[in-house]
Amino acid sequence: MDFGRTDEQESIRSAVRALCARFPDEYWRELDRAGEYPERFVRSLTEAGWLGALIPTEYGGAGLGLADAALIIEEINASGGNAAVAHAQMYTMGTLLRHGSDEQKRRHLPRIAKGEVRLQAFGVTEPEAGSDTTRIKTMATKRGDRYVVTGKKIFISRAQHSDLLLLLARTTPYDDLADKTQGLSVFLVDLKGAIERKRVVVRPIETMFNHHTTELFIDELEVPASDLIGTEGHGFRHIIDSWNAERILIASESLGDGRWFVERAAAYASGRVVFGRPVGSNQGVQFPLAQAHAQLEAATLLRDKASWLYDHGRRCGAEANMAKLLASQAAWDAANAAIDAYGGYGFAREFDVERKFRETRLLLVAPISNNLILAYIGQHVLGMPRSY
Ligand SMILES: Cc1cc2nc3c(=O)[nH]c(=O)nc-3n(C[C@H](O)[C@H](O)[C@H](O)COP(=O)(O)OP(=O)(O)OC[C@H]3O[C@@H](n4cnc5c(N)ncnc54)[C@H](O)[C@@H]3O)c2cc1C
Repeated sequence: MDFGRTDEQESIRSAVRALCARFPDEYWRELDRAGEYPERFVRSLTEAGWLGALIPTEYGGAGLGLADAALIIEEINASGGNAAVAHAQMYTMGTLLRHGSDEQKRRHLPRIAKGEVRLQAFGVTEPEAGSDTTRIKTMATKRGDRYVVTGKKIFISRAQHSDLLLLLARTTPYDDLADKTQGLSVFLVDLKGAIERKRVVVRPIETMFNHHTTELFIDELEVPASDLIGTEGHGFRHIIDSWNAERILIASESLGDGRWFVERAAAYASGRVVFGRPVGSNQGVQFPLAQAHAQLEAATLLRDKASWLYDHGRRCGAEANMAKLLASQAAWDAANAAIDAYGGYGFAREFDVERKFRETRLLLVAPISNNLILAYIGQHVLGMPRSY
């Protein structure tokens, strides 16, 4: 494994950094205050081709690898922005590219790459099933050449800002299954049309930060059978292919956040003079930032290893999960060290630390909580018994 970045990767980094510089702290602060979607930023990212990074060139995308996509996402968060406003298009690609038919790819990918349609919504979580995805109840019943879907989803982000929804639904009742990971199927749903036809009702959920997450009430929604992705009943396996990419990209958001906290706080603490010396010369302020920096560097190595394995078609479940775990913890430690370094100013909106603090807290819990990552490591890497 090469520990350096290629020239191409360095130019990706600097191009994304330059784009993000057009969207300074004030831009994100005002959107956060108003609870508005960063429409202009997402359009710019799309026009520059960064959101189509993982779409193969034959479908009009950039044809980059996950290691490159990870750098794009990291730079957005390191610049003070939040890649969560647009990341779903990247992390749903694994399912679509690996399991979508040629016809489905030809139909959707060129339009996604051009920015004509957005695939920004991923519908898995349900109120009762929670973390136990095999328990979802949203039912897709086959009737002739279509499925009729009814159910409820919760915490489905960007549903109001997406044309398409990658939806996981049940096609076989839970009790009829010997293997409970079977019986689920993935659909690529025309979400905008479904909302217009009132077959999907979207209810926003207010959260502690600007995230645009929603509840979806799905009532007798007809989905053409041609929109089934992959094999009926194998949907859980198909979305697991996206999950490793998702873990790596979430690790990258965390690393970007962590870098932002450490860089900002180190600069602030080096300039803020109290008791006749910079607060950053006190070990109580300096060492937590140094510790966070070291943790972020270590997590970066694991993220890079995971994305290298992913791009080379190797197994990467353990590395992708561990990278997400370590990077989100490192970002959270960096967030706390930054708040301490800023003192009271850390809580004042104009310094943006409190905004990033709220945003990075999510990454410990969603899209998967670190508890379940530890369970994965314990059971699948160390071979220990299940507690549930
Ligand atoms: C802002 C936001 C955006 C989101 N966006 C999306 C989205 O776009 N699409 C989507 O499908 N989902 C989305 N989610 C949902 C997210 O993936 C879930 O919140 C997350 O997976 C946890 O599920 P839950 O909230 O139901 O928690 P629960 O399953 O109710 O769990 C509650 C707590 O108990 C812990 N726990 C549960 N079981 C165990 C166990 N066996 N061992 C140890 N601890 C356990 C969990 O780790 C968690 O901390 C989003 C969530 C949020 C908050």
